[in-house]
Amino acid sequence: MDTAGYVDLEDRFLAHNYHPLDVVIASAEGAWVTDVDGRRYLDALAGYSALNFGHRHPRLVAAARAQLDRVTLTSRAFRSDQLGPFARDLAELTGKQRILPMNSGAEAVETALKTARRWGEQVKRVPANQSEILVMDGNFHGRTTTIISFSGDPDSREGFGPFTPGFETTRYGDVDALRSVITERTVAVLLEPIQGEAGVVIPPDGYLRGVRELCTERGVLMIADEIQSGLARTGRTFACDHEQVVPDIYVLGKALGGGIVALSAIAADDDVLAVLTPGSHGSTFGGNPLAAAIGREVVAMLATGEFQQRAADLGRRLGDGLEALVGRGVIAVRHRGLWAGVDVDPALMTGKELCRRMAAHGVLAKDTHGSTIRLAPPIVATEGDIDLVVEAVGASLMEPAPGLTPRATR
Ligand SMILES: *Cc1c(COP(=O)(O)O)cnc(C)c1O
Repeated sequence: MDTAGYVDLEDRFLAHNYHPLDVVIASAEGAWVTDVDGRRYLDALAGYSALNFGHRHPRLVAAARAQLDRVTLTSRAFRSDQLGPFARDLAELTGKQRILPMNSGAEAVETALKTARRWGEQVKRVPANQSEILVMDGNFHGRTTTIISFSGDPDSREGFGPFTPGFETTRYGDVDALRSVITERTVAVLLEPIQGEAGVVIPPDGYLRGVRELCTERGVLMIADEIQSGLARTGRTFACDHEQVVPDIYVLGKALGGGIVALSAIAADDDVLAVLTPGSHGSTFGGNPLAAAIGREVVAMLATGEFQQRAADLGRRLGDGLEALVGRGVIAVRHRGLWAGVDVDPALMTGKELCRRMAAHGVLAKDTHGSTIRLAPPIVATEGDIDLVVEAVGASLMEPAPGLTPRATR
């Protein structure tokens, strides 16, 4: 079957909750994927940062293979010889005392919200069912009913009500705005240290530190959703590290599963996580031995700092290349580490059209909304790969009209 055949099957048998590019990937290695027609593409989306270590990193595949031959699932009704070591190592990486493993990112966010509410009632002594959690405009935290209850994106909410109460939205990047909405009933502030889906929006310097100080002063938990920003993407282990900020709860996902399995977690200290007692929360697959073995290898790879350094170095190259395109079809670029948001001149084309053209140049990327695209190549990419991303953006913006045929690259 060729590309058209697989596209047709997906269109006929899948719910239409996505609108993907018509590139049908059949295999992948490192930063590169190959489609069913044999064309190769540089993957500059990297599974929204789930593939920070590239496709099928040899160390991660080896860890997965070894575990596949031993035991893959126990449920939390029993213990496994993988879960304890994984939790210990992730606790060390985060500097936190305890870990609670889940699967998808949204589940980890839900876990953080439930923990914060219970902490609010039991430790902060907010009256039952009165607690409030503050969130940011432009946020993206996942797709559950509760999480979309405080999303600002109409597409993700329409028709899905009634919504979960107890959330208040404030302005991202503005500590004074946050201060003005904290009340006695506020138990937590939930934020992304850099807003990925919003277009790689980086808050002003000092913002995270300001939020941290305010949360400490008012007895409010700071929850950092580092699902996309964490685990070396920004040139540091966590995006919060850029301001030497330590949140009360880290929310992790995406790259934690090494691009092989769905693995997420929250990390927090005893005074917070002790509010969860047997029966209060859980997941059949959360922390399963296969995921734990892979996650532990991810943590080991991050422990040396080499991926963080590489993201910082490659990121400078990507940022410099993209900034040179400002005024030549690009209106603005935001970047930190190997992560960039590019605003295209809307008079020229949409972000979606730019991504379509970039694919014809052998580079896969994704628009976020309107005229913004987001670039997050795997950290195992080469300098030549990064140059190719920049060239693909530049060349695509120069082209007069659509109607390209993809060609093999490299
Ligand atoms: C992707 C993402 C999520 C949701 O993760 P899923 O695994 O898709 O449920 C939550 N928060 C942020 C910041 C994300 O980027």
